[in-house]
Amino acid sequence: MTQAAVREMRSTCPYCGVGCGVIIESQGEQITGVRGDPDHPANFGRLCTKGSTLHLTASTPVALQTRLLQPQRRTQRGEVPHAVSWDTALTDAADRFADIIDRHGPDAVGFYISGQLLTEDYYVFNKLAKGLIGTNNVDTNSRLCMSSAVAGYKLTLGADAPPCNYEDIDHAEVIFIAGSNTAYAHPILFRRIEDAKRVNPRLRIIVADPRRTETAEFADLYLPIQPGTDVALFHGMLHVLLWDHLIDPAYIAAHTTGFDALKRRVMDFHPKEVARLCGIETAALMEAAHWFGQSKATLSLYCQGLNQSSSGTAKNAALINLHLATGQIGRPGAGPFSLTGQPNAMGGREVGGLANLLSAHRDLANPEHRAEVARLWGVTDVPATPGKTAVEMFEAAARGEIKALWIACTNPAQSMPDQATVRRALQRCEFVVVQEAFATTATCAYADLLLPATTWGEKDGTVTNSERRISRVRPAVAAPGEARHDWCAVVDFARRLEARLPERLNGRPTLFPYDTPEAIWNEHRESTRGRDLDITGLSYAELERAPQHWPCPEGQAPRARLYEDGRFPTPDGRARFADVAYAPLAEPRDARYPFSLTTGRLRDHWHGMSRTGLLGRLFGHVSEPAVQLHPQDMERRGLKDGDLVHLTSRRGSIVLPAQGSAQVGLAQAFVAMHWGEEFVSGCGSTGERLTGVNALTTPAFCPSSKQPELKHTAVKVLKAELP
Ligand code: SF4
Repeated sequence: MTQAAVREMRSTCPYCGVGCGVIIESQGEQITGVRGDPDHPANFGRLCTKGSTLHLTASTPVALQTRLLQPQRRTQRGEVPHAVSWDTALTDAADRFADIIDRHGPDAVGFYISGQLLTEDYYVFNKLAKGLIGTNNVDTNSRLCMSSAVAGYKLTLGADAPPCNYEDIDHAEVIFIAGSNTAYAHPILFRRIEDAKRVNPRLRIIVADPRRTETAEFADLYLPIQPGTDVALFHGMLHVLLWDHLIDPAYIAAHTTGFDALKRRVMDFHPKEVARLCGIETAALMEAAHWFGQSKATLSLYCQGLNQSSSGTAKNAALINLHLATGQIGRPGAGPFSLTGQPNAMGGREVGGLANLLSAHRDLANPEHRAEVARLWGVTDVPATPGKTAVEMFEAAARGEIKALWIACTNPAQSMPDQATVRRALQRCEFVVVQEAFATTATCAYADLLLPATTWGEKDGTVTNSERRISRVRPAVAAPGEARHDWCAVVDFARRLEARLPERLNGRPTLFPYDTPEAIWNEHRESTRGRDLDITGLSYAELERAPQHWPCPEGQAPRARLYEDGRFPTPDGRARFADVAYAPLAEPRDARYPFSLTTGRLRDHWHGMSRTGLLGRLFGHVSEPAVQLHPQDMERRGLKDGDLVHLTSRRGSIVLPAQGSAQVGLAQAFVAMHWGEEFVSGCGSTGERLTGVNALTTPAFCPSSKQPELKHTAVKVLKAELP
């Protein structure tokens, strides 16, 4: 028998926001290998442990056994689902949605989607909810990842557009990493920082993080701040910059507004008091400010430590204030640079795939923007009622206000905070659709209808990485069984629903005239014309040549760096200092709950492990869940490594082995976010069975960005008594 020829296909890694290029090898319909794409500007051929094992996750026995290959339906909860045809599945889904909309109105349904979907998938979900159904209840797990960065950029710079690119790492003299364990969360970017340090030994790295992570270990100056004190730290640094004449008055005068109010505020942030509040040395705070202000180019990299906070927008804005005050923006190596956690959190923002956004960075709250989008889509209107954001959506479902949920490519029954509420919501909904590749996620157990989706190596479309660079995602093999691309399933569902909602069509035969992802891309492209993220110059043909930055208007070159001319996308062209207050944590520690629990990533796992958990070798680095505690806290509680402890918050309790670690501070605890129900069990405050660390976490969120405070929950730690 002759062996099938080995084929190669260029695509993009589906894990983190670095957006590395990969070359997929396949034989027949089997993915056999993966290597870094030497020509991709995000990684130049490198891959981390997750990316370099992608091909192995595609073919493990568990992957093959749990792959969803046909739509499956349950007629009642608790029943084993049975296979149905796509036609039956989608017709049934359209009937159920139409019936709920008839009885309760469009806001009784919601869509919870994912930063791992492709831009084309995101676009059709957004149009389905806001255009066809007439509800803004479409939000995404990116809400848990970067909505504070979006709000911070808009508040200060006028648009959700990270100004920098990866090459800025090579030009920086100081890199200020705040709330990011880049070494684990963005490994290939961290390799680039290590390289820059080797080439330029004068490059100085500052890391501010409550945990002494691998990234902090690499720092020249480490600021082990107390959880939630970031705004105070940044205001304290600005106080020092002002006092020591390290601001740039010419830049402030020419390109910004609002400095005087902020100046008055930060005068109260005396370095000594700030250092005491933050739990760091005054000299270290002053040194950080001096390095920041004296350097020719300071680059800030930041991520969930700032974003996942009840004051996430203020943290982002306070850091951007430092760049505006020192003129450290719009030059090579200088600027605030938020890192996106997921591979396409940025693409989702571009198409307006969040409850408060519309296509091409338009705002739902703006009547002109709503009218523009209605015109572009050919619908009578886009509703003005704000949509429910992630936490709000599940809370509304738990109250019985949302009655149907469509969940795609994400696992809220593990990843959302306050699991008791989320699971109550999923139980209470009349109809839950889950679109997934593997039937392993906790959310699948709540599905009335499971739709088999294609996954990495099979999908076709685009993603945008942290530096605004759009890459193609290409299929190396055909979809197995009856698995369908997410956009295809949505379009087929939408066409069925259109027959039930003809008044929304405005006389058109369909709002979804797409046969290919390229057709969706072209409509999205056109919607960006004249906007800050104009990508009218980026056809699929152009992206075939190489990944490209946005903006890229037709006939112009892509722009890798923004604001080089000192003009910002605000009405007066000036950036705005944000006079933001320091606010304490939403749920401070107290005598009953004296520990600050934080969550984060492990090196070799991704989110809820639905893919990385399939591969034994990825458990080599960390093989089982644990709660990390400071060695002194272990000693005080009479704990040895491996002793079981109850970790309890106001919402629930889980049992985990304790592990002493000098990475966490006194009265702090760390649990990785990845471990789900096969690893960690516990119960909610009313006794219901819950799993994973999010049984404990607080649903409190930032009032501006609505991003929940996953980086801090007050907990107690009690040694578990063995029977
Ligand atoms: Fe994939 Fe991120 Fe690793 Fe690159 S750094 S290979 S994008 S997980």
